[in-house]
Amino acid sequence: MNLMYRKELEDLVPYKPGKPIEYVMKEFNLTNVIKLASNENPLGCSKKVKDAIQNALDNLHIYPDGNSTDLRSELAKKFNLSPSQVIPSSGSDEMVDILAKVFVNHGDEVIMADLTFPRYIATTKMMGGVPVIVPLKDFTHDIKGMQNAVTEKTKMIWICNPNNPTGTMVPTSEIIELLENVSKDVIVVLDEAYREYVTRDDYMLDSEKLLEKYPNLIILRTFSKAYGIAALRVGYTLASEEIVSNINKVRGPFNVNSLAQVGALAALEDEDFLKESYDLNKLGKEYLYKEFDSMGLKYALSETNHIFVDVKKDAFEVFDALQRKGVIIRPIMSTFIRVSMGTMEENKIFIDALKDVL
Ligand SMILES: *Cc1c(COP(=O)(O)O)cnc(C)c1O
Repeated sequence: MNLMYRKELEDLVPYKPGKPIEYVMKEFNLTNVIKLASNENPLGCSKKVKDAIQNALDNLHIYPDGNSTDLRSELAKKFNLSPSQVIPSSGSDEMVDILAKVFVNHGDEVIMADLTFPRYIATTKMMGGVPVIVPLKDFTHDIKGMQNAVTEKTKMIWICNPNNPTGTMVPTSEIIELLENVSKDVIVVLDEAYREYVTRDDYMLDSEKLLEKYPNLIILRTFSKAYGIAALRVGYTLASEEIVSNINKVRGPFNVNSLAQVGALAALEDEDFLKESYDLNKLGKEYLYKEFDSMGLKYALSETNHIFVDVKKDAFEVFDALQRKGVIIRPIMSTFIRVSMGTMEENKIFIDALKDVL
């Protein structure tokens, strides 16, 4: 047998997920393990979501509404857009993949940062596109640098704002300047997975207002982070009607399952839960900053639910040592780790363990 795989797959590697809590408990014989590795919501999710899902369990034999009609119309109302400009997906992860399939031809250039969400480069390569990497500056997207990297071959620009894994953001004014200066034939994607955690006021929370003037803009958001329903796999995209109709050609007919649709609708109703999540995150962030300062560790200022910190020792060794103590974080590179804000109790456990390890 000699299976001929597409050559675009040659330098792709599968995503390596972190070990689930139960496995770490077993492997290291621990009774208490905390996971601050995947930017999950330490409060779980709204009770309204659980109730809604409970009520939907009688209809598991029925296919989902392939148009996510209710969720689309609710999101459209919330953002003052037409439902034809709103499209949910199975996590915004799936939309990264779909957008590559919609836009990236062989040889097209796709601009992105060096240290950002790894699916941008993977899906670009998958389609035979050419990633054009513009390094972060001070752990922050270099928007001017991205603009300067545009050529006639540029198809798409990926901006994760605020950025994962560094937690940094660029003011929306810089993004508007980019939109003003690039051709309308270049797609600009804003991945706003962490927007609900942003504290700075030079971040435009209603960036959907830009869609009217910039039809080449695509905005990705998710229910996985602040809304706390990562397990359900649901995110949404805001774009022009034309782009959405092309996305509809590519996506699977039932890509957003019924429980995800029902859960997302209920999540939208609970503003209090969102506020609680924001407040706890801010408190945790300030606590971690203070502790890192006292330990002499440098970090990037975060507008997300995670902090990118230089632990001044090999990140993978620190990851191992912390895991043995029942704390799971994400090693990123060299001496940098990414830690998600947990409950205040979890944050303290993490700091105690980190002090021990260092
Ligand atoms: C977590 C994350 C997402 C989305 O995750 P889904 O669970 O697939 O919605 C998208 N972009 C970035 C940058 C993220 O960190």
